[in-house]
Amino acid sequence: MVKYTYKEFKSVLNKLKYPDSWFWSRYTLNTYSGCAHACIYCDARSERYYIEDFENEVIIKTNFDKKLDQRLKKARTLLPDIIAPGGVNDAYQPIEKKIEHTRKVLEVIAKYKFPINIATKSNLVTRDVDILRKIANETWCAIGFSISTTNEELAKFLEPYSSLPSERLEALKRIKKEAPNIQVGTYFIPIIPFLEDTDENLEDVIKKSKEAGADFVLFSPGLTMRDSQVEYFLKKLKESNYNYVVKPLLELYQGQMHPPSEYCKKINNKLWNLCQKYNVNVRVKRWIPSDFRNWNYKISELLLNKEYIDALKTGKSNKTLMWAGLNLNNLEESILDFYKRDELHTIKNFNPKIIELIEPYLEKSKELKQKKGLEKFL
Ligand code: SF4
Repeated sequence: MVKYTYKEFKSVLNKLKYPDSWFWSRYTLNTYSGCAHACIYCDARSERYYIEDFENEVIIKTNFDKKLDQRLKKARTLLPDIIAPGGVNDAYQPIEKKIEHTRKVLEVIAKYKFPINIATKSNLVTRDVDILRKIANETWCAIGFSISTTNEELAKFLEPYSSLPSERLEALKRIKKEAPNIQVGTYFIPIIPFLEDTDENLEDVIKKSKEAGADFVLFSPGLTMRDSQVEYFLKKLKESNYNYVVKPLLELYQGQMHPPSEYCKKINNKLWNLCQKYNVNVRVKRWIPSDFRNWNYKISELLLNKEYIDALKTGKSNKTLMWAGLNLNNLEESILDFYKRDELHTIKNFNPKIIELIEPYLEKSKELKQKKGLEKFL
């Protein structure tokens, strides 16, 4: 039995130092604290989050919409950027059906024209398709359903109070049909070794996502195994019919928090090939602002996508490329101005190789501008 408590919180919106390069979010907000979905692998059980009894006591943050309204109204320096609700909770957990807390927050987000990226395991999100469609039409909206197996019996064991995977896929399909401007897809995360990494499951998740109309499938092999979270997860596994995976799982992890890189590389390769086979993007397409950040965000997306896909294929990440892509988001003027002054090399992490990579794109921007200038004489 979940206990619900109402509590007022001081802060409503967190700004990230850099955008999240997977979900592209720059702001996060949590309408709830705790999550009654109670997935047995949830990372919120780890000590770093300090959430006591997180699935049995859910805190409803009172006056959240009003506080967010005040925050966005007063914040002249707060540039619109992607907001991601939920982090260690699901914005569409069961109580949302009754109290419409997240819905009220969406209304505020729509009012101030901020883009949004929602990750959920609930089909309740379809209730708010009217507001989400409006956000998508006026700015940008992405919705990703977390689906890591199509085996409903296994899903019921791992994620006992979420919508079933088939219901999530049905919701994805419905949103795509009713609001084609919303970018929809699957967050294929986590992928639990020996339970969800069979060739059959990998293919089925991608195939069914594509059939439902997914624009993207973002994936990440493995499951983070951290202190109290892993204790709880292993306890649940041992008590279940899936207890046979405990031994191989522990052998694979060798006491580490993540599976070995060779394992991830193997699964990533399979997933990459499957996404090619079914013609699904492995990245969410980014929201691009129309102010001075326009080209900064375009080039940042280009660099971060390249870094991500190269790392998928080779198993090695390129930190310089990644930081070049991230730093661009914090420039206070357009990269085009740096380019015009021949000062690209002064941007943090921009080495000759990166400059060579992006110059053809920046050159295109110049051509576009010239074309626009000439149009008035035609
Ligand atoms: S839905 Fe997300 S936040 Fe909620 S219990 Fe499951 S994994 Fe944790």
